[in-house]
Amino acid sequence: MGLCDAIVKAARSRARGRRVSEVKVRVGGHPVDPEVVDQGFRLAAAGTELEGAGLDLVMEPLSVHCRGCGGSTPVESARTLAACPRCGGVDVEACGRDDVVLESITVDPEAEAGAEAAAGARGGAR
Ligand SMILES: [Zn+2]
Repeated sequence: MGLCDAIVKAARSRARGRRVSEVKVRVGGHPVDPEVVDQGFRLAAAGTELEGAGLDLVMEPLSVHCRGCGGSTPVESARTLAACPRCGGVDVEACGRDDVVLESITVDPEAEAGAEAAAGARGGAR
């Protein structure tokens, strides 16, 4: 899954080899299934410093702005995109950002020391 690969890639570049215990990601635009993303994230994170890290997914769905009544409504289904749920008007436009943002990562301080020791052990075995 491209989304999960992107999350893992972004988090790893920020972690710089440190062990990560949690990744917080904001997903804007089209609704995603958190379970699917979580599963994909685990797969993509396997074998990296993100392995076993928790994924904190914050959803920011698109909203629909209605020119008829001036209201805006979060998009919960495809139907919302077609007509305004408030007044039934069809003069609506979708607004909001369709992107994925890495909000923050939490580095595990204990595992950080362990990772250094492990790196040293690997170096010695070479
Ligand atoms: Zn309306």
